[in-house]
Amino acid sequence: MKTALKTLLEHSAGLKMTDRQPALLIGHGNPMNVVTNNEFRKAWIEVGKSLPRPRAIMVVSAHWLTRGTAVTVNPQPKTIHDFYGFPEELYKLYYSAPGAVEYAEATIKEVKSVPVLPSSDWGLDHGAWCVLMHLFPGADIPVYQLSIDYNQPLEYHFKLAGELSFLRERGVMIIGSGNVVHNLRRINWSPDPLPFDWAIEFDAFVAKSIENDDSEALVNYLSLGSLAGAAHPTNDHYIPLIYTQGVRDHKDRFAFFTEQIDMGSVSMRSILFC
Ligand code: ZN
Repeated sequence: MKTALKTLLEHSAGLKMTDRQPALLIGHGNPMNVVTNNEFRKAWIEVGKSLPRPRAIMVVSAHWLTRGTAVTVNPQPKTIHDFYGFPEELYKLYYSAPGAVEYAEATIKEVKSVPVLPSSDWGLDHGAWCVLMHLFPGADIPVYQLSIDYNQPLEYHFKLAGELSFLRERGVMIIGSGNVVHNLRRINWSPDPLPFDWAIEFDAFVAKSIENDDSEALVNYLSLGSLAGAAHPTNDHYIPLIYTQGVRDHKDRFAFFTEQIDMGSVSMRSILFC
């Protein structure tokens, strides 16, 4: 059921660490969003103030693509500055939250359908820390990441997400970090450009599928043909949405926030399930 963001946040703010935790999709977009004054960053800060304090956070970021599925098991995950050619100030930012080793190990143990491997190499990539530093600026909630096995079809990710939903009951907030539309080849750098028609259309398809709780439509998005290809020339930024939808409970209410399309071809639509 779609609910006003304010109402859902009021409900969310009343949750305890031991209650079922919300799940989110955050459209992260341009790394510069972290240091410039913009509506996305402001919304992340506002939403973060009303989110309950989870026991741990698991992030599925568009920027950790692997062969096989892995979780980070570092007690002190490093901040990874996995972008190039940006201003120096971005490389000076760190998010020093502790790792969530106990929850990463529970994930390895409880997922039965596929092996989940421990990883000590990865830390927090910018899909994770760029949003976490605004949602939870205290950096005192344990965090781990789950990788995206980039060789697998969307059905794999959706099924795996279903197996991960138990984590919400254990106090883990699950955050997918990607973008509902993400075509970097078509970015328009002029100030406030109009969104492309195909960006509006694909973004509306996702919004409608979320409203209808239509996982099948989201998983089978390639049936949209050239529209799907325009919105996602590669689907790394789409897959986090499949995880967030996959951990959704049919009883969850939801709200959208930061619904704008940035730079013409990047949808910043974010979703809260609670
Ligand atoms: Zn990204």
